[in-house]
Amino acid sequence: MDFRLSEEERAFVAEVTAFLDEEARHAEAHDFMAPDREADSMLADSPARRAFNKRMGARGYLGMSWDGVYGGSARPGIYEYLLNEELAGRGAPLIGKGVGCIGKTLIRHGSEKLKAEFLPQILSADVEFALGYSEPNAGSDLAALKLRATRADGGWVLDGQKTFTTSAHFADWYWVAARTDPNVPKHKGISVFLIPMDHPGLTIQEIKTMGDHRTNAVFFDNVEVGDDYLVGEVNKGWTYVCEALDFERFTFFTVNPIITKFRVLLDLLKRTERGGRCVVDDPLIAQQIGRLAADVEAAKMLQRRVIVAASKGDVPAVEAAMYKLFSTQLGQRIADFALDALGPQGLLSHGADGAPDDGKWEHSYRATILDTIGGGSSEVQKNIIARRGLGLPLN
Ligand SMILES: Cc1cc2nc3c(=O)[nH]c(=O)nc-3n(C[C@H](O)[C@H](O)[C@H](O)COP(=O)(O)OP(=O)(O)OC[C@H]3O[C@@H](n4cnc5c(N)ncnc54)[C@H](O)[C@@H]3O)c2cc1C
Repeated sequence: MDFRLSEEERAFVAEVTAFLDEEARHAEAHDFMAPDREADSMLADSPARRAFNKRMGARGYLGMSWDGVYGGSARPGIYEYLLNEELAGRGAPLIGKGVGCIGKTLIRHGSEKLKAEFLPQILSADVEFALGYSEPNAGSDLAALKLRATRADGGWVLDGQKTFTTSAHFADWYWVAARTDPNVPKHKGISVFLIPMDHPGLTIQEIKTMGDHRTNAVFFDNVEVGDDYLVGEVNKGWTYVCEALDFERFTFFTVNPIITKFRVLLDLLKRTERGGRCVVDDPLIAQQIGRLAADVEAAKMLQRRVIVAASKGDVPAVEAAMYKLFSTQLGQRIADFALDALGPQGLLSHGADGAPDDGKWEHSYRATILDTIGGGSSEVQKNIIARRGLGLPLN
């Protein structure tokens, strides 16, 4: 496998780096670029963040892989991965949901009306979306979702509940999977709708996670949706959801933040003394650092395999599952090791006197668990590898 970037790809990375260097000089840069942030989804909404996204749009960085007919530049998908890696390395918002899951699904399956309404807004970063898939009893087994969409005059009425909808509290539109036919096998009775997030029938309730990440429960009470906001065909929603999830898995989990985190930890440990000597002088600590360095390199290579497969036009579901499983658990192991190596001080949280790196490692320990759940839990990734990669008889 040839993992080297072409001259054009390297030039693109250099161009993005220069753009981000320029952005970092912005007075409000910390609102949209914070390399210490654990995940892109922890970014709060702010005018500065929206303005940054608009500057990304103006540079043509949104929709790069879309066809020219839809306002994209028809570049190979690898450019989106390269862009996301650079953004993630700086803690900037990834190009995520709008361009990827929603834009690409609308291009493939949406009506002309939906394409005309949403695609230009996605390209100019004038719209934020929330993804409404998970429910209290439908997460890993998403096809068990129960949010009911009942036929009404000229449209549908939705009643029920979603849970863990990240960004529902500031998004403009809600991309929702609902059950339109309860009398057929579960995968065959699901449809996808677009609903304005300020619809009076929606109630949004905050859920705080152990990693200080805000997500939400969303309640639907007689939410009326016109037929023109049904995405694609009725009862074909499962196909659209799966396509979008495949996209999410191999674009949302970037490797640069892990590489940076490991370097930052190494720097810190080289400066940390305990019992009159530097902690890295302890051979057991040094060995664990060596082990993690090898694992960081392995994560990098697993991710390159995803990129190579994707750039050949394949949907790299198995490669992406291997990478997601390994890299998110590695993020946890780095945080776990940090707390062991830092001793009692490592447990001090943000703002506490003497907290190493102002509590970064204590927070990382709590936050990295979320990565092993969102976008498909580690067990689900193992199932994908076993079933789709190795042909083992899992049902
Ligand atoms: C930070 C964060 C953000 C999120 N954002 C969104 C969002 O914006 N929109 C959205 O719709 N959802 C979102 N989610 C929800 C996420 O997709 C689900 O949490 C995830 O799919 C797991 O589902 P669950 O929580 O219902 O757990 P469950 O599916 O109930 O799983 C519970 C446990 O059982 C294990 N398990 C389940 N099935 C199997 C199996 N077949 N084999 C072996 N083990 C199994 C799981 O691995 C897990 O350990 C988010 C989650 C997090 C943590």
